[in-house]
Amino acid sequence: MKIVRYRDGASGEGRYGILEDQTVYAADGDPFSDAGLTRGSQVGSLDSLTLLPPVQPGKIVCVGLNYAAHVTENDASRTVPDEPVLFMKPPSALIGPGEPIVIANLDHRTDYEAELAIVIGKRARNVSEADALSYVLGYTAANDVSDRDLQQKDGQWVRAKGFDTYCPLGPCIVTDLDVTDTKVESRLNGDVRQSQTTASMIFKPPFLISVISGVMTLEPGDVIMTGTPEGVRPMLPGETIEVEVGGVGVLRNPVTGR
Ligand code: MG
Repeated sequence: MKIVRYRDGASGEGRYGILEDQTVYAADGDPFSDAGLTRGSQVGSLDSLTLLPPVQPGKIVCVGLNYAAHVTENDASRTVPDEPVLFMKPPSALIGPGEPIVIANLDHRTDYEAELAIVIGKRARNVSEADALSYVLGYTAANDVSDRDLQQKDGQWVRAKGFDTYCPLGPCIVTDLDVTDTKVESRLNGDVRQSQTTASMIFKPPFLISVISGVMTLEPGDVIMTGTPEGVRPMLPGETIEVEVGGVGVLRNPVTGR
């Protein structure tokens, strides 16, 4: 099942929908209940709707340096970590497909980072690696927009990765996806910049969920961003960045300055 969230034209509120081909149907029920969602009446074509981030997470937990070739591409002195490097982005940074990424500091290098994102389906605390995937609702695509100047200056990444609009997410959550060898790609103005598969991850999703759930309780809707492959480069106002995750689709956002 492919789950989207869209803005209801009459109420202006966000609603869950079920995407089939290019058509969105109303989603009856709660994606985080045992019963899940069932398909209701037709809402409209995908192109006719304003999509929102496909989930409203309480927290967004991110993994840094999770593809070996990315670890050293900006800093040759970095070494591959022996356990996951964790940080967080605030939910206020979220935007949906098509919304502009607003570059906060035009004189800083601001990069895209294409990532597979895990959406947690039920409360997870101290779960084992073997059980981890049973806590997953599904997967989506994310862009971990990063201000490299501030990342280096601050020594931690809250400000560099926490600006409003620095967390595009979507377009949909795919609930039945095997992510052991899934394409993670970015394209800037249509040119491929990153292209790897999740088989190159240092720490795989079941291990990440197990480790993170041993630190903090993961709640339904929480998002884990699993790190980016090599090929990160800056984006400039006027450009368009796309993140494609195999089976999920394309997350496309224009870039502007403020
Ligand atoms: Mg990242």
